Amino acid sequence: DLEVSNSYHQQGVGIVGAGLVGCLAALAFNAKGFSVTLFEYRDDPSKTKNDNLRSINLAVSARGIRALKYVDEEMAERILEHIIPMKGRMIHDLDGNQTSQLYGLFGEAINSIDRSFLNECLLEEIRHTDIKVLFNHKLVAFEKNHGEDQTPKMTFIDTSEGDAASKTFEFDYIVGADGAHSQFRTQLQRTMRMNYSQEYIDMQYIELYIPPSESAKDDSKFLLNPNHLHIWPRTNHMLIALANKDGSFTCTFFSPWSVIEGITSTEQWISFFKKNFKDAYDLIGEARLATVYETHPRGSLLQVNVYPYHSPDGRAILLGDAAHSMVPFYGQGMNCGFEDVRTLMELIDEKGGDVLEAFRSYTEIRKADLDAICKLALDNYHEMSHKVTSLWYLTRKRIDSLLGKLNGKYFQWIPLYTMVSFRDDIRYSQAIEIEKRQGRFLNNIQYGFLSAVAVTSLIKGLQMWGRRT
Ligand code: FAD
Repeated sequence: DLEVSNSYHQQGVGIVGAGLVGCLAALAFNAKGFSVTLFEYRDDPSKTKNDNLRSINLAVSARGIRALKYVDEEMAERILEHIIPMKGRMIHDLDGNQTSQLYGLFGEAINSIDRSFLNECLLEEIRHTDIKVLFNHKLVAFEKNHGEDQTPKMTFIDTSEGDAASKTFEFDYIVGADGAHSQFRTQLQRTMRMNYSQEYIDMQYIELYIPPSESAKDDSKFLLNPNHLHIWPRTNHMLIALANKDGSFTCTFFSPWSVIEGITSTEQWISFFKKNFKDAYDLIGEARLATVYETHPRGSLLQVNVYPYHSPDGRAILLGDAAHSMVPFYGQGMNCGFEDVRTLMELIDEKGGDVLEAFRSYTEIRKADLDAICKLALDNYHEMSHKVTSLWYLTRKRIDSLLGKLNGKYFQWIPLYTMVSFRDDIRYSQAIEIEKRQGRFLNNIQYGFLSAVAVTSLIKGLQMWGRRT
């Protein structure tokens, strides 16, 4: 549990961005006794109507849950009441047949939750603390080493008061958690030698919606099995669906930009959908599909990598998507961002409350893991959109699971998915290393088996040929 230390009192932390990671970081610093101010560009969501057409369902898994519990066990319990466990993928073929592929070896599940709802849950927790939250504050400038005491300074535009209202704040430490397009990162880069890369992946996404059943009673309000992540894999595009508590499903259609841009009318979109996702088409309905095509934004996916994550004077740090935006195909973006927060807090304790030291060590400790998960996320797109239907992949998966179930009895064996999603004690970089070793062994088994089949067939063929001649 989080250790509260009075010695941290009076040290001011300014956090930019009240998204998922910024909120958890604020709660974590506050629980340690720091004085925290959280700045958010948007208006207070509790005061505004949520008509966000980009509402996304997230899969929360072991790393995210551990970080929530680390910050506050009871808060984690309150939040986890709202999740829907998903114990496997449900693969939908072109004819609408569904096949379940379990994620875990022993019934483990990842968990569906609405992103805006989760954000609001965290903000609600913040309302019960003395964290100061300033909504409608847009970061526009950052200056390091301000004044004699070297205190960094941030300038914000208060958008509720018009463009002229710019305000300046000073903090002992600053956390940039303002997402993939981080303004804080841009500002920080001007003051230091920071490596930075940004790559747009040739992929767009659109959100869709399957409503709850109108006719069914409460216990069967879901039109699909809620305890699965539904996937319609179609090689170069796919549809996924995750359940919501009210019986609806949030769906996401992913495709290369050329696919969506090649569709030029609502009619074409509807017939494309009907051809590729017939069962989903029936559940969503033509009217809703037309609205989606005509009004819903197309999201782009980008990968961002930076190095180092902290400023040379150790007073500023980047966490979450601001430091490592990744494609969403391993469902780890937020989980990893939450793990960033736990890792940093543990370092602060390890360094006896020396935040400067903790910020400096964080980069060193975290780099390999962040690189690893960004790579895994990209690789998993091929698995979800294509490999899940291949016999080679399914056979390999079966052997992988079988060996995983025997883990610890005669040898050590943990499938990659288990390491990433269900184990919070194996670092992402370790998971890749272990998987490489296991992968080589699986290749040998599969090639060995194929060679045995080939040799047996050859011998049989020669015997038949011998008998004939
Ligand atoms: P954000 O959520 O982007 O929050 C940043 C905040 O900063 C925002 O509130 C923004 O308004 C604010 N801000 C921006 N600029 C400024 C400024 N200048 N001044 C002040 N405030 C500012 N992750 C998972 O773990 N599991 C999943 O299943 C999953 N699925 C996903 C599916 C899709 C389609 C996508 C796109 C992402 C998915 N993710 C998933 C990733 C996850 O959504 C992100 O990793 C997570 O939201 C990152 O949180 P963050 O707080 O770092 O950034």
